[in-house]
Amino acid sequence: MFSDDLTEELDRLRREHLFRRIEDRGPARSMQRPSRISLGGREYINFASNDYLGLSLHPALGDAAKQAVDTYGFGAGASRLLAGGTEAHAELERAIARFKGAERALLFNSGYTANLSAIPALAREGDVLFSDELNHASIIDGCRLSRARVVVYRHRDMDHLDALLKREKGRRSIIITDSVFSMDGDIAPLPELCSLCRTHGALLYIDDAHGTGVLGTGRGALAHFGIPAAPWIVQMGTFSKAFGSFGAFIAAGSDCIEWLINTARGFIFSTALPAAAAAASHAALSLVEERADLVAALWRNREALVRGVQEQGFDILQSETPIVPVVVGDLAMTVQCAEALRKRGVYAPAIRPPTVRVARLRVTVTAAHEPADIDALLESLGRFR
Ligand SMILES: *Cc1c(COP(=O)(O)O)cnc(C)c1O
Repeated sequence: MFSDDLTEELDRLRREHLFRRIEDRGPARSMQRPSRISLGGREYINFASNDYLGLSLHPALGDAAKQAVDTYGFGAGASRLLAGGTEAHAELERAIARFKGAERALLFNSGYTANLSAIPALAREGDVLFSDELNHASIIDGCRLSRARVVVYRHRDMDHLDALLKREKGRRSIIITDSVFSMDGDIAPLPELCSLCRTHGALLYIDDAHGTGVLGTGRGALAHFGIPAAPWIVQMGTFSKAFGSFGAFIAAGSDCIEWLINTARGFIFSTALPAAAAAASHAALSLVEERADLVAALWRNREALVRGVQEQGFDILQSETPIVPVVVGDLAMTVQCAEALRKRGVYAPAIRPPTVRVARLRVTVTAAHEPADIDALLESLGRFR
């Protein structure tokens, strides 16, 4: 029976310590402290958030959202092609295109939807998608949904990718990569990827979910490397991480955007984002542009945390960003460490195989952490040395 199967499978997940459960936050105790999280009535220092600049609690976002609700109401009522969008959507698209140096941009309802919709829209049958083995699940799923062939290359291995590209010579190719890899916090070698794209006439599709608002004074991975936008580069990003809002975008050449408007199914067949989300994202974008100190504080905190963790002798793998994997030992030790941190008021979850190869704590540091927060994490970690 179907339900017996499920019960059995769930038991297996529990036995293998792979069972996931939802934990929902209580109300923020202070709008001034986005580094805190309320769980089960207790407050923790949060080292698990993608709210890199602490913008989710910023009054400018809430105010923009409230004003948009007063202007447009809440629900969009229809898809963009049936006028569910508003001037707030269009203004955000113009602003994010300018911010990313691209000709145009298009909003999607989430980063997950963007990858699931845009990748199959861009890759035709007979094309080849080259995907880094550590790409995000939404890219993997987007590739699976497309009718193109999917070729996975070893993580950041340009020689491997080059050899694979040569093998598929003559086919239309798209190289797809996370800019910042979401579990290891390392950065894709975009200059080398660009030169491979030029050599092989391929399109480059960058998932800049963890780069936008973080790298390149906030503009993202291309700016980090000083690479100008080009019609053969597609930049996907989300408003849900460093921008503290919700929704996602693709910034690219005009033809590419027109094509997505006409063919991307997750864009065509889904209700537009609420105007309030677009307005809040726009407020966040303005803050990132005006407040260079926010991104600077994020990187200062990142350096302080990494220095402390390395002084204690922990391996942080290849991390180059505010995503810092901390390898504390085997799986049992990692889980024990996460539990001990939690008892001491520090929230930094263990990530275990098969999600990653090496069990680790996945620590994300933000601009909102205070020096004492980082000290608290280091002190608790020190007990596991
Ligand atoms: C979070 C994430 C997404 C999904 O974005 P959402 O807006 O949360 O749906 C896509 N790609 C990467 C690399 C991510 O980290």
